[in-house]
Amino acid sequence: MKALDFKTWLEQLNALNRGQKDRLRHTLDRRESAEEVIRMIEHSLQEKPLCPYCGNTQLQRWGTSCALQRYRCRQCRHTFNALTHTPLARLRHKDQWLTYTRALIDGLSVRKAAHCCGVAKNTSFKWRHRFLQSPAQQKAQKMQGIAEADETFFLESFKGKRHLPRKARKRGGKAAKRGTSAEQIAVLVVRDRDGATADFRLTGVSAKEMEPALGPLLATDVILCTDGAAAYTVIARNLHIEHRPVNISQGVHVVRGAYHIQNVNAYDSRLKEWLARFHGVATDTLESYLGWRRMLERFGLKVLPLKTSTGCTS
Ligand SMILES: [Zn+2]
Repeated sequence: MKALDFKTWLEQLNALNRGQKDRLRHTLDRRESAEEVIRMIEHSLQEKPLCPYCGNTQLQRWGTSCALQRYRCRQCRHTFNALTHTPLARLRHKDQWLTYTRALIDGLSVRKAAHCCGVAKNTSFKWRHRFLQSPAQQKAQKMQGIAEADETFFLESFKGKRHLPRKARKRGGKAAKRGTSAEQIAVLVVRDRDGATADFRLTGVSAKEMEPALGPLLATDVILCTDGAAAYTVIARNLHIEHRPVNISQGVHVVRGAYHIQNVNAYDSRLKEWLARFHGVATDTLESYLGWRRMLERFGLKVLPLKTSTGCTS
């Protein structure tokens, strides 16, 4: 649009009534949001452009699909866009994705998130699952330097299940027994001083159950900091790695200025506080939420380049 046309067009806006102005603003917001999402998606591919079918990097531009740049692989000749083979492939209403992401972080229910985004409840349910899928798969593969490990426990929730294997508990209730029990899910959280984070849902907290998770994760020259639980001593010995237990029950919190588990403990607290807003997470989706939290910790609000929040409350 030429500058003069644009000026005339702007002047005409004054003639719109309030309802029309609101509608226009809404349309522009939606468009801007969709463009923002598309920019982010395209950017994710531009950083590492390769064919999702064969891994080849020789690509040619091949029109567009679903408002995204389509590429064709020069080797296998498949066409694809930045979302092909990702959990978000073929989801519609991109203009609402940022709002939905925000709704997830705000811990809105499926129904409320649907309302905020103006989508059906079934769509909201599908989105929640898909949006949480990708972060669940991304965790640190190797810990370097000083790594802190600790177990944390979550009350098992049977949310969404029709037949409870036990008597229903009041929302936000407490476990009948402390420590590991059938009602608590143990999660092992490991974090190094560079912030690399990994977590594992455990079936128990003995060396036998924790070693398969820690073994591949810890570099051979890593220094493992844990509390005084005997299981870690066994694991460190089996893996031939240096171990610095901190005897917290004796009031020791830091050994020689550097060896402690305060980072992992602080992480656990933030995780618990954040999870509380979801009012009980179904046991089989816990890992998705753990993944979402890892992503938030890693990228902070950068996962959410929003100017405003959803405006909805939980
Ligand atoms: Zn290919």
